[in-house]
Amino acid sequence: MTEQAKANLENLYRIFTVPEAPDSTLGRIDQALTADLAGFLQQHIVATGCSLEEIERDFSSTQIPEEPTFVSDYTEFVKNKLVAQSVHTASPGFVGHMTSAMPYFMLPLSRILIALNQNTVKVETSKAFTPLERQVLAMLHRLVFAQDDAFYQRYIHDSRCALGAFCSGGTIANTTALWLARNRLCKPDGMFRGIAQEGLLRALQHLRCEGLVVLASRRAHYSLAKGVDLLGLGRDNLIPVETDENNRIDLRCLRQHCQRLQDENKRVLALVGIAGTTETGTVDPLDALADLAAELECHFHVDAAWGGPTLFSQTHRGLLKGIERADSVTIDAHKQLYAPMGAGMVLFRDPRAVSAIEHHAAYILRPGSKDLGTHTLEGSRPGKALLVHAGLSIIGRKGYELLIDQGIERARHFADCIRAHPDFELVTAPELNILTYRYNPAWSQQAMAQASQEQRRVANVLLDQLTVTIQKAQREAGNTFVSRTRLEPAQYQGDSITVFRVVLANPLTTDALLEAVLAEQCGWARRFAELLAPLQALQAGWRQA
Ligand SMILES: *Cc1c(COP(=O)(O)O)cnc(C)c1O
Repeated sequence: MTEQAKANLENLYRIFTVPEAPDSTLGRIDQALTADLAGFLQQHIVATGCSLEEIERDFSSTQIPEEPTFVSDYTEFVKNKLVAQSVHTASPGFVGHMTSAMPYFMLPLSRILIALNQNTVKVETSKAFTPLERQVLAMLHRLVFAQDDAFYQRYIHDSRCALGAFCSGGTIANTTALWLARNRLCKPDGMFRGIAQEGLLRALQHLRCEGLVVLASRRAHYSLAKGVDLLGLGRDNLIPVETDENNRIDLRCLRQHCQRLQDENKRVLALVGIAGTTETGTVDPLDALADLAAELECHFHVDAAWGGPTLFSQTHRGLLKGIERADSVTIDAHKQLYAPMGAGMVLFRDPRAVSAIEHHAAYILRPGSKDLGTHTLEGSRPGKALLVHAGLSIIGRKGYELLIDQGIERARHFADCIRAHPDFELVTAPELNILTYRYNPAWSQQAMAQASQEQRRVANVLLDQLTVTIQKAQREAGNTFVSRTRLEPAQYQGDSITVFRVVLANPLTTDALLEAVLAEQCGWARRFAELLAPLQALQAGWRQA
């Protein structure tokens, strides 16, 4: 062995044994982040003056470094290239997405989690974390389905059953739900050994139908499209059902689709209701959907990735009435349970349903084992359930209730501000804590109210350009952040328009800050007056005509 190789080996042993010194650069970054996340990250939401293309240059080398190096050599990169160029999602002014602040204790607990490095795929690598995860699933099952003590004592740790599956987020949760629905519908029956064994073609032959479809509103999250794709059902078989003027699934259209599908000899695999759509925060009429699912004898899934924790609120939980009739429910812990990124769950009303997706392997996951990996889509997984458990234990039902109620109240107040402001137009009022709006100066709103549909369409195209320009400018300036999306609001007869989208989940966001968001947008509108000139000219033309 060369001297260099010997030195390398010694250092490699060190990095596996000697902990990071608190006064090292990495230790200091870690401490500073723990002590004051908001202060450590720039006050701005993004480091200004650097485009993504410029940042990409710092990440363009494809050579794996040949020689081992010192940790301290690496930390400059962490500090200057990574942390400094990250998005400050915890900022109270970052109100555009579902990612927001976390309680501080998630940081030290995450460090413990990583230090323990448990793998929840099997008991042999996780021990306490397996029952912990089952407990968390039972707690949330109880929040949704409210069964009695005897039920939970019976099922909480019964390895043949599962009250849900923990996963990395809503996408995997929704996919798991569809997977379970698919395998339950196409279960072994006589000579047919089930879709899991024989595949989709044989399943369709066995069921004597032309396809399996999933019905959800057009506002459904794109994860459902990924799910039907992955499960071999085909994206064409996810039917985007029209929405009513409140962005809820239109039940009349839904029934028409069902009739048509029946005529086409297609079988409804699942009906999906959304409790809190990603773009508008709308809740579908879950009770009515449960009725229809019962009539069709199909699986009823509720995607409550965002809105599920609304059940903590005595005031607002009624909005989700009917969720307790779902066969499966998705809840994202990294959204309104305030856990760090990478934690989601799907809950199963019937704890025995999980047998449809059970898998066994010889060296682990043996039949009858308590390994969680027998029924999760993912294999090796971190013990993220600890962070959800901590949130539930420390914040408690009433704590979450306060957070939910505050968010909804703040959204309503902000909606009032937008309505009262002559130059803004509220596009979707908040049912939960999400709303959309756009800048549309008073003179233009007045002219559009009198205009024909065709005239409004042309004006909307010009307003879309302005909305996009303002949103980008605001994002680059980095003081506050709203996102944007496209919607087809009823007031524009189905024309699609670009809108600002605001999600109010950060408890540190204030009403004053939201007013500052509007003021900043007015400022940008003045700066981009040249974009308003064609609108003015257009509308002057309407008056002359
Ligand atoms: C966020 C979200 C998802 C997807 O969850 P991920 O955690 O991003 O995979 C699915 N459905 C709804 C309604 C969501 O809001």
